[in-house]
Amino acid sequence: MTAVFPITAATPVTFAGALPDTADVVVIGGGVIGVCTALFLARDGHRVVLLEKGRISAEQSSRNWGWIRQQGRDPDELPIMKEANELWRQLAAETNVDIGLTQGGVTYLASDAAAMARYEAWQKIASDQDVDTRILSQKQTDSLIPNMSRRYAGALYTPSDMRAEPWVAVPALAGIAVRDGAQIIENCAVRCLDVETGRIKGVLTEKGRIETSQVVLAGGAWSSLFLANHGIKLPQLSVRATVAATTRLPVVFQGGAADDKVAYRLRKDGGYTLAPGGFHELFVGPSAFRSLPKFLTQLRADPFGTRFLPAAPKGYPDAWGTARRWDADKVSPFEDMRILNPRPNAGKVQTITDEFSRLFPDLPDFRVSCAWAGMIDTMPDLVPVIDTVAALPGLTIGTGMSGHGFGIGPAIGRILARLATGRESGHALTRFRFSRFTDGSAMDLGPAL
Ligand SMILES: Cc1cc2nc3c(=O)[nH]c(=O)nc-3n(C[C@H](O)[C@H](O)[C@H](O)COP(=O)(O)OP(=O)(O)OC[C@H]3O[C@@H](n4cnc5c(N)ncnc54)[C@H](O)[C@@H]3O)c2cc1C
Repeated sequence: MTAVFPITAATPVTFAGALPDTADVVVIGGGVIGVCTALFLARDGHRVVLLEKGRISAEQSSRNWGWIRQQGRDPDELPIMKEANELWRQLAAETNVDIGLTQGGVTYLASDAAAMARYEAWQKIASDQDVDTRILSQKQTDSLIPNMSRRYAGALYTPSDMRAEPWVAVPALAGIAVRDGAQIIENCAVRCLDVETGRIKGVLTEKGRIETSQVVLAGGAWSSLFLANHGIKLPQLSVRATVAATTRLPVVFQGGAADDKVAYRLRKDGGYTLAPGGFHELFVGPSAFRSLPKFLTQLRADPFGTRFLPAAPKGYPDAWGTARRWDADKVSPFEDMRILNPRPNAGKVQTITDEFSRLFPDLPDFRVSCAWAGMIDTMPDLVPVIDTVAALPGLTIGTGMSGHGFGIGPAIGRILARLATGRESGHALTRFRFSRFTDGSAMDLGPAL
């Protein structure tokens, strides 16, 4: 890959056009969730418009590792993820773009017996749901991924898990959505919802108004800020996650693998995408303080997983100076930041490349061809909100994918398309209800890995 991240503010607009006066459904946000929602709405014959403030897939949906994994999921996400696996295969066959979809498996390498015990517990969940996850012994691990300098206690391995190239895949899905009748407009921020007598009547964008009775909010790291302007509280924060891409190297493993120091995944161009597995950084801002009580369970469970930084750069969703309230006739925070493009943590880029070289000492020398970061939108219980909003009829929320929304995206999009048009989703969604933050429920982290 090139030294510059593939989707930037300089990327030409692909999806343009005049704003329609009306739509059956408006989707806010052109990441994998919004794009797949628009795709399935269009397939069901609805007039759908997707509005994206920057470029399709310019934020999390292009910046992720590209793992399409069932492994380690929350038990309530697993049936949805199994559907997503099938959908990825179907959708990949419907586009003439090679999205790099490959069934290479996902492997978690256990550093000690405690990790093995967690993996064994999760394997039972997989087995109950007919997922082909296996526990590997030390010897089996060595033969699955040969030539590693480190000996592991064993591993958790799901052969049916896949990978794809995020910055290619999501724009390709947007192409399918448009072919199926969706309208997508880039460079168009939705400033506010148009609400009359407690119901949605339209959306107010920087380019004008669209009349609609149904809106799906799939705004990634911006969703809680968007909702706050309407007095709707969502305890969602975003954390910075750093990634590095290597130059082309011999194949060490076809899929994605991770230990406690480095995660790696072969890309279609022959390089590896590397990341520091369990590490991320939170820029502390007003929402972080406000949401702290809800996040305490997560903090206690993993006190060292998050590094705290005093303040977000200007214009970030939870920066101290970011407006919390605005009117539709003023420039909104969304136009001020067309693409959230955090600077990667240079120290971590060095650490993960060192770890990867140490782990595979036989690999030839390589360079980091590109490093980037993304702001992961995370929820206190690490599962998303997929629900309609009782207090504001016409609003459906699909956000807070908590670092694992790329793989599951197609199925979540299909579900949101159903919810927004008043139909059964075909999945149990209680775990993902919006009211869990206000109905006195404890924040349940579940057995996800
Ligand atoms: C470093 C990293 C690694 C990851 N690895 C994986 C992985 O391997 N596997 C996996 O499954 N997941 C992974 N994830 C998580 C995954 O990328 C996300 O969960 C997923 O992409 C979220 O999709 P989304 O559509 O909800 O949000 P996004 O992709 O962030 O899209 C939201 C979009 O909404 C737009 N928007 C926001 N507000 C407005 C507005 N008012 N008007 C118009 N547009 C608006 C934004 O510009 C943005 O483009 C990773 C994430 C990161 C950052």
